[in-house]
Amino acid sequence: MDLKKYEFNGEKKFEIKHFDTADTGGYTDKTETETPMRDDIELMKVYQDKLFAEGKEGILIIFQAMDAAGKDGAIKHVFSGLNPQGVDTYSFKEPTDEELQHDYLWRAQRHIPARGEIGIFNRSYYEDVLVGKVHKLYKSQNVSDRCKTDDVINQRYEQIRNYEQYLWDNGITVIKFFLNISKDEQKKQLLQRIDDKAKNWKFAQSDIEERAYWDDYQNAYELAINATASKTCPWYVIPSDKKWYARYLISKIVVRQLKSINPQYPKLSSEVENSLSNWRKTLTE
Ligand code: ATP
Ligand code: MG
Repeated sequence: MDLKKYEFNGEKKFEIKHFDTADTGGYTDKTETETPMRDDIELMKVYQDKLFAEGKEGILIIFQAMDAAGKDGAIKHVFSGLNPQGVDTYSFKEPTDEELQHDYLWRAQRHIPARGEIGIFNRSYYEDVLVGKVHKLYKSQNVSDRCKTDDVINQRYEQIRNYEQYLWDNGITVIKFFLNISKDEQKKQLLQRIDDKAKNWKFAQSDIEERAYWDDYQNAYELAINATASKTCPWYVIPSDKKWYARYLISKIVVRQLKSINPQYPKLSSEVENSLSNWRKTLTE
């Protein structure tokens, strides 16, 4: 499977206009990816156990997308096999009054996974260069004038690049997914939220209001991704009109990342290893 196609690490430019959101990588339907996806979920479980036991590396997985692109469903399915003890999911909503009194990375830092753990961000500090850029939110915040110039967004790109490098240098790998859907697919999904009783609770008026800014958001995503794609913390742009393919791709990428980290169960010291048979005796005698 050609994952390179979806990876942006600064070498090639991400052009949102030319990205096929309906791409299914040559697969024709869900039935073809079900078994390999199940295998990936199993593999993830095995790797997570070792990651947790070893406790040397943490993984932060970020999900960004336009409304109704399937972040929730992807998180639910892809990580369904993980041990909840080693995973923490956090959803970033509109900042609270307390959060607004702090720098924008403050609330994220509090949820960065410990080494050995997997942290999942449903939205993230990227909102501050997405919705923050589209609506120029920094202009209306209670901050000094020097923090409200038109350069704020460019400064944040650089801050985010440095922050992710900082995390990497401290044993945390950041994996960034952009679930990319078409405007038509978003319409379909929003209509489902209106028509399907079980999905009504997900409907928010703001989803429709923000849809009116579609082009601005597309531009903001393209700029943010290109400005923060790096070798150590690449972006993965996931064609997401077909949810089954999006989920399959995400699981492939997560497994590949875990494989490259290659976590191992900690080795016992020879002293402890030698004493195991004595402990066995104590228990069984
Ligand atoms: P879905 O994609 O299924 O619609 P959601 O992620 O939009 O789910 P909601 O609770 O509907 O979840 O919305 C969260 C909202 O919070 C989003 O509209 C997002 O833009 C907003 N938000 C998150 N972070 C910030 C931020 N830093 N500044 C302003 N708004 C933010
Ligand atoms: Mg929403």
